[in-house]
Amino acid sequence: MNKKLRVGILGATGMVGQRFISLLENHPWFNVVVLAASPQSAGKKYEEAVAGRWAMSSPIPKNIKNLKVLSVEDDFNKIIKEVDLVFSAIDLDKEKIKELEEKYAAAGIAVVSNNSAHRWTDDVPMIMPELNADHLDIINIQRKNRGWKKGLLVVKPNCSLQSYLPVIYALKKFGPKIVSVTTLQAISGAGKTFETWPEMVDNCIPFIGGEEEKTEKEPLKILGSIKGKKIVPDKNLNISATCVRVACSNGHMASVAVKFKKRPTKEQIIDVIENFKNPLAGLGLPSAPKQFIKYFTEDNRPQTKLDRDYENGMGITCGRFREDSALDWKFIALSHNTIRGAAGGAILIAELLYKKGYLD
Ligand code: NAP
Repeated sequence: MNKKLRVGILGATGMVGQRFISLLENHPWFNVVVLAASPQSAGKKYEEAVAGRWAMSSPIPKNIKNLKVLSVEDDFNKIIKEVDLVFSAIDLDKEKIKELEEKYAAAGIAVVSNNSAHRWTDDVPMIMPELNADHLDIINIQRKNRGWKKGLLVVKPNCSLQSYLPVIYALKKFGPKIVSVTTLQAISGAGKTFETWPEMVDNCIPFIGGEEEKTEKEPLKILGSIKGKKIVPDKNLNISATCVRVACSNGHMASVAVKFKKRPTKEQIIDVIENFKNPLAGLGLPSAPKQFIKYFTEDNRPQTKLDRDYENGMGITCGRFREDSALDWKFIALSHNTIRGAAGGAILIAELLYKKGYLD
């Protein structure tokens, strides 16, 4: 690639926006040139806008510190002239997010979104690149439906399902039909740190608004297929979810039990997971993990603190496969919520879009 694509981050000051900034530092294909957020941050230098709330372990990159933050809405005309691609991570009401994301796409910008607003729009693909890259084919229909020549809109699924769904997907030849999952989700998933959410120290909260519905339903679209002009969700899987907020800074764990049409042996399960070939291997995507799913034999792994950064936070870890007395097998899975589950996952989607020629 001779020239880097010009990238904007909408919601650049938030938890996910900060993660985009740190992951895109020195990215070989993408260059962050626009940072945008709410009117409260607009007009400030980035380092002033995030003063006291920069939550990444590395410092704000030098080329970003002094960039002036723009307003996602008020500076729309300026932003669309300066970028080819935007990553969207804004916290607004859903209808407003839908309207804004469509407005950017209609102006010829590729929009890759972390927000849930468009996840159930028929012609918008919800992508986990290793699982359903083929759903990107719907972009041609999307552009035709909406009269967009260059713009496009792709969304990333919710962070809560990214730990366990790849494992279920790897085991698809055994016909998973019932999944019972309890997620243990870190506080960064709510855009918080222990400083900004002190009630979470030494605490668990057994409710995360809207999360259980997302955890149960979004996998069905990801495992679905394009039929006619839309993506039709899979009908073979029934998921029941409980989502709990736990006192961890980063990393969403899931405790999962599964029933299969054809019950595999433990040896078959481990063989399938250990030999799962990453479908992105060979595409040369800079953010793709070398090994997508790692299986641990130790009884006390994966652990949130030890394993969330596996493959730079882009890999999934799992372990503790054991028989379940009600369903067939149970296991533990883990992923990094703001990397694989948010910014990193979205960057991987954009790399795939570039490789498939959608960003030309
Ligand atoms: P956050 O830390 O609360 O950040 C929200 C961002 O939205 C900030 O940049 C904020 O700007 C901006 N914003 C708020 N009101 C705005 C307005 N009126 N116009 C433009 N921008 C506005 O939230 P987050 O955790 O980063 O999450 C962002 C989105 O990603 C949410 O939709 C969330 O559901 C989704 N998501 C989060 C995670 C995660 O692990 N955290 C994972 C997957 C998806 P100011 O700083 O100027 O207020």
